[in-house]
Amino acid sequence: MVEKASDARNFVVIGGGLAGLAAAVWLAEAGKQVTLLERRARLGGRTHAMRVPEVDDIPDNGQHVVASGYHSLWRYLDSVGTRQYVTFPGSGSLRWPGGRAVMLHTKGFRALRTLLGAHPDASALDRLRALRATLLLIQQALWQPRDLAGLTTDQWFRRVGMPAKAREALWDWLALGIAAEPVDRESAKVFADVLATGIRIGVRDRAAVTIGYPTVDLDTLFIRGAERVFERHGVDVRYRAVARRIIVTDGRATGVRLADGSVLAADAVICAVPNTNIGGLLDDLPEHPEIYAAADKLGVTPIVSTNLYLDRPLRTKSAMEALIGGTGVIDEVFDRQRMHGRTPHGTWLYCLTTSGAYEQIHRSNDEIVAEQLELLRRYYPEAAEARVVAGHVVKMPKATFSQVLGTDDLRPGQRTSVPNLVLAGDWTRTDWSATMESAAQSAERAVEALLRQED
Ligand SMILES: Cc1cc2nc3c(=O)[nH]c(=O)nc-3n(C[C@H](O)[C@H](O)[C@H](O)COP(=O)(O)OP(=O)(O)OC[C@H]3O[C@@H](n4cnc5c(N)ncnc54)[C@H](O)[C@@H]3O)c2cc1C
Repeated sequence: MVEKASDARNFVVIGGGLAGLAAAVWLAEAGKQVTLLERRARLGGRTHAMRVPEVDDIPDNGQHVVASGYHSLWRYLDSVGTRQYVTFPGSGSLRWPGGRAVMLHTKGFRALRTLLGAHPDASALDRLRALRATLLLIQQALWQPRDLAGLTTDQWFRRVGMPAKAREALWDWLALGIAAEPVDRESAKVFADVLATGIRIGVRDRAAVTIGYPTVDLDTLFIRGAERVFERHGVDVRYRAVARRIIVTDGRATGVRLADGSVLAADAVICAVPNTNIGGLLDDLPEHPEIYAAADKLGVTPIVSTNLYLDRPLRTKSAMEALIGGTGVIDEVFDRQRMHGRTPHGTWLYCLTTSGAYEQIHRSNDEIVAEQLELLRRYYPEAAEARVVAGHVVKMPKATFSQVLGTDDLRPGQRTSVPNLVLAGDWTRTDWSATMESAAQSAERAVEALLRQED
């Protein structure tokens, strides 16, 4: 992007997660003077790396995967110069207890087989039924029946007649990945909307949307490059700066009151905090009761990530393996050696992610490590004698906003009734569920709204 001479007005961005980082980077690129307020001592929000001293390693707060259709995120990575650190292997694998595993291909002709049922025991009839049900899903995602908003994803799958084996080997796993909720709680409309987004992007790009992953830690991917942009453009980043209220005077945002009582003057504000932190900030905005009520109803869903450093390799078939029939929900195992191309300190790191971890979140870290090792032992023969050199558990009770039945139309747009005050964050209305792309797309729309009203 062409750099412009900085103007003297102050654009304040509240929140240094992905949405706030992207907003600050793009405003700075557009020649604006930017102040970024972050309540913690670090940037990155829900995407960041953490040090594990026992093995001198920096795993992430949770393994993050990306979709090739994340166009706003690509724009962000281009801006901060780290796009080369994402790769799309074109395959993953499914694993059953006892070690039986099959590959899932997401590129080319072999992707069709994945779509029609990768289950090794699927019969020809199962595959035919899967084809019919898949076509129905696609049709109903694009032209949604009126009552879809009243169904869970489980009910939708039953209605289109998706065979059990196709659900086990693909659809239930995909739905959990998209909305981080078990299919009997997840809103079918949320899943259908993301499916429709993926189909539209696939048609536009003339390539099916595939799944990939970073080859570096999340700090290197998202934060270090942003810091370089901030330095280049003189963005004022304030850590441990807790915003309490956005001040609106005569229909315009004029400042931000901080927890220490000080007021920062603002000519425009992007509020990029999660739904769980919005309370109080928008009190001066006429429509704040509706936004607060929606934020409240959107609620939270927990994710537990466990980084297990083992004394031996597990012989995975791919970097991303989905364990079928795990502890109530399906677990995912990420092989960090394959992803990052290195072995940390003579150990082998396996990152396990449990989405919709409503029960696990209440267990102690030791219990979780023991439970996850037991899980690996059921699925990987090589884990039978394995020893945990270090176990690192990250509990995120507020991992994302919830996308259960009844939440599909609650998300507020980026624009507000105050023209120079806009919202951003994964929970605001975008084409995606609670994802990094939603955060980046919300920032893109928020920045666009502010810059347009400047013209
Ligand atoms: C374990 C886990 C795994 C995930 N896996 C994936 C995945 O595989 N793929 C994917 O696409 N997405 C995934 N996600 C979702 C993704 O991480 C989030 O959607 C995204 O990071 C949200 O970014 P955000 O900027 O909207 O919010 P946040 O990252 O929460 O950023 C908000 C920031 O605002 C700050 N803040 C809050 N209140 C204030 C205040 N009053 N004043 C100042 N600062 C404030 C916070 O400290 C925070 O830094 C995952 C999330 C988790 C937790």
